[in-house]
Amino acid sequence: MVAHLTAAASLFAPADCPRLVIKIGSALLVDQKGNIRLDWLQAMAGDIAERRAAGQQIVIVSSGAIALGARRLGLAKGGRASLEDAQAAAAVGQIALSQQWAALLEARGLVAAQILVTLDDLEDRRRYLNAAATLDRLLELGVVPVINENDSVATNEIRFGDNDRLAARIGQAAQASGVILLSDIDGLYTANPKTDPAAKLVPQVSRIDARIMAMADRGSGSGMGSGGMVSKLEAARIATRAGAHLAIISGEHDLPLRRFVDSNIGTVFLASKAASARKTWLVGRLSVKGNATVDAGAVRALERGSSLLPAGVTAISGRFERGDLIDILDAEGQKIGHGLAEYDADEAALVIGKRSDMLADLLGYAPRAAFVHRDHLVLI
Ligand code: GLU
Repeated sequence: MVAHLTAAASLFAPADCPRLVIKIGSALLVDQKGNIRLDWLQAMAGDIAERRAAGQQIVIVSSGAIALGARRLGLAKGGRASLEDAQAAAAVGQIALSQQWAALLEARGLVAAQILVTLDDLEDRRRYLNAAATLDRLLELGVVPVINENDSVATNEIRFGDNDRLAARIGQAAQASGVILLSDIDGLYTANPKTDPAAKLVPQVSRIDARIMAMADRGSGSGMGSGGMVSKLEAARIATRAGAHLAIISGEHDLPLRRFVDSNIGTVFLASKAASARKTWLVGRLSVKGNATVDAGAVRALERGSSLLPAGVTAISGRFERGDLIDILDAEGQKIGHGLAEYDADEAALVIGKRSDMLADLLGYAPRAAFVHRDHLVLI
């Protein structure tokens, strides 16, 4: 749903947003030749310092490690030709990147901290809570945490791969009120503005529905980072469900935050009422191990807040274990939610489509009440 209100930069102002996550993409940090864009970054650090002085706590999610390391090592394709190249480039680039951030922030009287996380660190609830506590303490101490994915140890299967979703997940862990994604585009357009001259900027979105999703198209404009509009919308979904507003604004100006305040140009995704902390964490979980297709009756039951029972499942796929995350699909194959499976895939194959009173006989032991319990289930 597109809300017809003015884009509200004030939602991200220190007075209304005590904690803000700012994501800065590779193309803004590093130029096409692989050099750090120092002037732009110095201005950005000034902008951040102003917000800190006004009492806003800031977390920076900074990309650029792979792009920077690739340049230092002379690697082809910006260091993304193979996983090994990306890992090596990130290791070399990250140390330069953190030195740069530490110096830039120090010049403004601010203390920087670095945290590198993997997808697993945030998918595992205990590690997630641990990371959240660290962030909390750093912010209380007035430090500016600078965060990136630990690309040198992440493998293709277990990585965020883009810092948009990482920023949203960090926003959730830090209980931020706002997340700003600095992009190479002004925000979400109704169509791809590079190919469709009639495309219009969408100022505000109150619900990320199929119409909004259809506006995005894959692929990063710069070819340097890895996010596109789809990963930004996924980030918006995670952040807004966690109770944070998310803005996509252009970083291709000096002082992009100030420009946003002055012009309101950007797309703001409004926070929805935050669910319980555990459900919020569940919304943001990303490593899906399989899926379950459900019938129309089950869709209605889920919308009323019920658990998913085996009887409502028409098909499953994937090699999931009990406790793994699975997507829930309607009969048309559209994802309607996800949750933690109560059965592993082999048991599930026996019980789907079966009434609850038949399960004990089929399994040879007392069955679990639900296929996905409502406490471990979120609709998207
Ligand atoms: N973590 C990657 C890096 O630092 C960037 C991911 C992205 O492109 O969003 O290079």
